[in-house]
Amino acid sequence: MTDPCIFCRIAGKQLPSPLLHEDEQCVVFRDINPQAPTHLLAVPKRHIAQLNDLTAADAALLGHLVITVTVLARRAGLTGSGYRVVINCGPDGGQTVPHLHAHLLGGRPMSWPPG
Ligand code: 5GP
Ligand code: ZN
Repeated sequence: MTDPCIFCRIAGKQLPSPLLHEDEQCVVFRDINPQAPTHLLAVPKRHIAQLNDLTAADAALLGHLVITVTVLARRAGLTGSGYRVVINCGPDGGQTVPHLHAHLLGGRPMSWPPG
């Protein structure tokens, strides 16, 4: 049976998707449906469904994920213009893929609050 989790399959390389970054804890790849000129997804290799499932033991992993996003933002030339980092949680948060991930969005001005 195939693993139904699409991001586990990408992180595990069962599903080909060019990786912009990989280390022992996470991968980064382009969003298939970009909402900004730069739209990347930073994904922990370990399956965590959503923010609600985190414990204090995951603090270092989350810190690593955010630091990795800033490295990719710098590499994309977004440091001066700015960018947005988003983690959606659950239906009202707009989460559609049940594997924790951080969006990096940049390259255009973004409004606030979100709709
Ligand atoms: P969420 O709505 O869960 O916060 O974000 C999920 C994101 O994953 C969406 O922006 C969607 O476009 C992206 N996505 C869904 N399936 C795939 C896929 O197979 N490959 C890639 N690269 N992105 C995906
Ligand atoms: Zn998964």
